Amino acid sequence: MTTAALPEIRRGDQAGLVKSEEFPPLNHFIDGAFATGEPAATSAVIDPANGSELVRVARGDAEEVDRAIAAAKQALPAWRALTPKERAELLNKIADRIEQHADVLIRLEALNCGKPLEVAEDDVVSAVDTFRFTAGASRAFTELGAADYVEDHTSLILREPVGVVGAIVPWNYPLLMGVWKLAPILAAGNTVVIKPSEQTPLTTLKLAELVQDLLPAGVLNVVLGKGSAVGARLSDSPDVDLVALTGSVRAGREVASAAGQTVKRVHLELGGKAPVIIFDDADLAAAAEGLRAAGYWNSGQECGAGTRVLVHESVAERFVELLVEQVSTLVVGEPGAGADVELGPLISESHFENVLGFIERAKAEGATAAIGGDRIEGDGYFVAPTVLTGVVEGTEAAREEAFGPVVTVETFTEEEDAIRRANDVEYGLAASVWTRDSARSLSVPRQLDFGTVWVNSHLVLANEVPWGGFKGSGYGRDLSIYALNDFSRTKHVQINHAR
Ligand code: NAD
Repeated sequence: MTTAALPEIRRGDQAGLVKSEEFPPLNHFIDGAFATGEPAATSAVIDPANGSELVRVARGDAEEVDRAIAAAKQALPAWRALTPKERAELLNKIADRIEQHADVLIRLEALNCGKPLEVAEDDVVSAVDTFRFTAGASRAFTELGAADYVEDHTSLILREPVGVVGAIVPWNYPLLMGVWKLAPILAAGNTVVIKPSEQTPLTTLKLAELVQDLLPAGVLNVVLGKGSAVGARLSDSPDVDLVALTGSVRAGREVASAAGQTVKRVHLELGGKAPVIIFDDADLAAAAEGLRAAGYWNSGQECGAGTRVLVHESVAERFVELLVEQVSTLVVGEPGAGADVELGPLISESHFENVLGFIERAKAEGATAAIGGDRIEGDGYFVAPTVLTGVVEGTEAAREEAFGPVVTVETFTEEEDAIRRANDVEYGLAASVWTRDSARSLSVPRQLDFGTVWVNSHLVLANEVPWGGFKGSGYGRDLSIYALNDFSRTKHVQINHAR
């Protein structure tokens, strides 16, 4: 097979994407107000499509975190005293506000992340649905009835908020990952301090600006800064009752170990290396088309991305042909280049170097690029959409998360071997199985050690169903009523009514 030429980067009007008056205040949002005055320290926000500096934002430290935690603590009694209906009404108003301002949120997210408008639009539309679903679900979140389990003693199970929650989110879906935390945290009656990634704070700040008049002061606070300072303080502060992180396994370990000092609750959504097991009876064209989206959506910077194909050797050659054909049609460009761009740059220069290093090491360990396999020349952090074949079991390419537009292909002959190899990674977030055999479509998922397993699809999410991992991918669930469960606590009250 010959390697196709690398795609061209379609350029557009980056500077015109967001007007200067549409940017949010670039400072911490604490106790219902944006900080004013010159921040003591700032950090640059970079446009990944060309490497230029977009704006500088405040860079906080433990001091700002402590102020935000104090505000959240003060706001807690009144917020938790509201009924689920009252909080749900506010959440629905937040959803309406996001929807009314969807256009600016989409453009801001696209600009800050370099992501295609199509992806940013999906993020914002999904964020609205997360608030709406959670608002409704929190009102239906009733459980055990009161009863006597010991003679003359009536037991009530009260559901309460956990308290002040610290939420730490990554750069790949800054608004959406933030909302996945905020909606259940707030619906359950907690107050929150959220830390966006230092690289992508703009839509979190815009959200705070948009809902400033809806939420009581202190219920939602945003502190900007690095994981090692702001994130670390949220993890070790004795006044934070639960810390929730979406991020890398490394950060998860650090957060959990810092949180251990105060025995606070921890909720971790970490990395993934999703296997895509394609059996010889699968619809190969559907699998290739499915992976065009699931492997390259958001430039593969997606924890559930279908990145590791394990295909039956009898159909491997045909499948790779179909996949390469699909990948060759991806439109690469900057977000300002139009609504039909499908693949943007990676988030930063250092991440770009990491992904290129991953590809180079894979080649050195025996893999071949059937398509892509290199940077695309020009400004910005563009890596060509890549399919690596001949990946050897046990090598880095088969085991580690690339978090870029790279799909690796290995072959197998026996079903048991495919399952064993799929499970033989540190991660346990998501997987997919492609088969037309109905018994296999149930028996194989049961043997896979991943929090989500799709059959004949990949990366299809809904707010009603839980999202989260096993093993190194962390614990705790986003979305669904399971998130409301994770962000609340139960209390048993028992009343002796003997007379
Ligand atoms: P990262 O771990 O570097 O950063 C994530 C967040 O954690 C950032 O806000 C960062 O500042 C903060 N952080 C970093 N070190 C910290 C520390 N020691 N203490 C407290 N906070 C700290 O990850 P990233 O590069 O921003 O995001 C990519 C990673 O996130 C990937 O591994 C990806 O798979 C994972 N991810 C997982 C999900 C999921 O749902 N499971 C979703 C999106 C991303």
